[in-house]
Amino acid sequence: MQAEIVVLPGDGIGPEVTRAALRVLRAVGERYGHRFTTHEHLIGGAAIDATGEPLPAATLDACRKADAVLLGAVGGPQWSDPQAKVRPEQGLLAIRKALGLYANLRPVKPHPAALGASPIKPHLLNGVDLLVVRELTGGIYFGDKTRGDGIASDLCTYTVAEIERVVRRACQLARQRRGHVTSVDKANVLETSRLWRETATRIARDEFPDVTLEHQLVDSMAMHLLAKPREYDVIVTENMFGDILTDEASMLAGSLGLLPSASLGEGQIGIYEPIHGSAPDIAGRGIANPYATILSVAMLLRHSLGLEDEAKCVELAVSRALDDGQFTGDLAAGRPAIGTDAAATAVIRQLQ
Ligand code: ATP
Ligand code: MG
Repeated sequence: MQAEIVVLPGDGIGPEVTRAALRVLRAVGERYGHRFTTHEHLIGGAAIDATGEPLPAATLDACRKADAVLLGAVGGPQWSDPQAKVRPEQGLLAIRKALGLYANLRPVKPHPAALGASPIKPHLLNGVDLLVVRELTGGIYFGDKTRGDGIASDLCTYTVAEIERVVRRACQLARQRRGHVTSVDKANVLETSRLWRETATRIARDEFPDVTLEHQLVDSMAMHLLAKPREYDVIVTENMFGDILTDEASMLAGSLGLLPSASLGEGQIGIYEPIHGSAPDIAGRGIANPYATILSVAMLLRHSLGLEDEAKCVELAVSRALDDGQFTGDLAAGRPAIGTDAAATAVIRQLQ
């Protein structure tokens, strides 16, 4: 097949990990006889420096025409002045909104070889295989913001339609897994959460009788995620709760550098990116872990291009590289560490 992929390297380690992941994409394309054309565009701090805007119109246009988007990371200390009018993160929020990518899928499946890097006891981690579906284009991140003298506010809003579509997506994904959905909210305090809970209950009951739905308050979910992570299958939640819970969940996998994500809407296009940020503390040193971005390429192959065999092939190659002890510094836990490019090379070797 032929596919057009827009690459948004972004800031910090973004360019390093996307470059590594693109080598893997090209290798898998060659192996299966596909033609993947890639075009780079600006986003985030790099775009602010070049054009003054975090999401230039040329970038958005290119993304709209592409089959899929691979993104590195945005942000960094040089753009985080509290007085700044434009911020790199605005570019990310704007592109998700503009492309209607309301469902952010974040799978967490700890690899046995990486368990040593997790602060959680290994016996709690064996068999953990969960998928967080985070609502991505609503809630407090997008509500009106006001700032007065000594006072500030962020408005949190959800419509029934916004809740329905993301809960539906989570239930569909649960059908292909173990058939269990945990909906996370704060319904004892927040009105948006009460609407969330009512809506989730109705969708599951009316449209997915074969899926079991359970509700969990976000504070207790934060605890259970560490105490009994094996019990969860699909977790669906609103934007900010999902942001926080998935950084927490990354500790189950051993490192932020292992977790991929897919941001999907109703169409074929999606944005694929590691869940980690731009890691300015290690940027430019060639030591960042590229596995999360490589696993994001696998999700791109699966969800936007419909290439399931190719996606599995990439996931298996990463798994084998880890089995083979190919660890970047974040995973090494005292063992010898390799750099970003060597990790990509290790994955490509396993593809053959
Ligand atoms: P954001 O707000 O964009 O989500 P963040 O504040 O959560 O960013 P990250 O940039 O994700 O922060 O970095 C958190 C820590 O994890 C840093 O110490 C960073 O070096 C480390 N880290 C993140 N990604 C990787 C990676 N791919 N490889 C190695 N270390 C990483
Ligand atoms: Mg973060």
